[in-house]
Amino acid sequence: MPTFVRTDKCDGCKGQDTTACMYICPHDLMKLDQDGSETGHVMRAFNQEPEQCWECYACVKICPQQAIECRHYADVVPMGGSVQPLRGADSIMWTIKFRNGTMKRFKFPIRTTPEGSIDPYGSKPAADIAKIDEPGYFNLGGVQKPGNPDALIRK
Ligand code: SF4
Ligand code: SF4
Repeated sequence: MPTFVRTDKCDGCKGQDTTACMYICPHDLMKLDQDGSETGHVMRAFNQEPEQCWECYACVKICPQQAIECRHYADVVPMGGSVQPLRGADSIMWTIKFRNGTMKRFKFPIRTTPEGSIDPYGSKPAADIAKIDEPGYFNLGGVQKPGNPDALIRK
């Protein structure tokens, strides 16, 4: 299910240039409507391409206002199913409503460590991505190569 922003809850991250949802979205889908020209709501975020949503729900988890929810495509919503997240200080609760009215709730812990505090490599050296050169896989005919910004398809 793609995500959407509830404009009645979103506060535009209090005027920050890069909002939390814009920062976290791996597909750059979240956008702040600065003047209300795109959504009719000034300084509110919105998912500009729901059909491109990875449904990773990183934006749902990071939003400090709990303003981001999930909404299924129009052909399924009328059948009555829904998914509603509720973020707490150390967990997120998902409320799943099935079409027959059955409700289930799942609670999962969320990351509580400060941003930038994780050491992803531990005691091991960081990978040198520029040295990765597997013919036929990473190096597609010598055209694309990881670590080479000039070889990116989408810039
Ligand atoms: Fe609005 Fe939440 Fe996005 Fe901040 S993170 S701009 S409050 S939807
Ligand atoms: Fe972006 Fe993931 Fe949120 Fe979709 S669910 S808008 S991909 S952060």
